[in-house]
Amino acid sequence: MTRLAMKLEQLPIDRARLARSLRLAGVKVGEGRYRVDGGREAHWVDLYTASIPRCDCADHLWRESVCKHILAALVREGHERVIREIGGLFAELTDHRTAA
Ligand SMILES: [Zn+2]
Repeated sequence: MTRLAMKLEQLPIDRARLARSLRLAGVKVGEGRYRVDGGREAHWVDLYTASIPRCDCADHLWRESVCKHILAALVREGHERVIREIGGLFAELTDHRTAA
């Protein structure tokens, strides 16, 4: 497991942010670097330079959260835990449908 992967195992992934991240457009601009569009303005994500992933949006800077832009970048990197969390989102939807 890489250093990043270990760090990410400890970071909370918010399902609402994850759902929103799936509607954003991400363009890879370098190794672990993404420009993420689709919100009010574009944001820049850097996954690997620091010890935790970074983004220049207020959600990340002020709340220190794993924001939707970082999640969008991790989806495009094929990050294992994020993919599994998306599976969790779909399972929730399916459960609601079968319960109704
Ligand atoms: Zn962000």
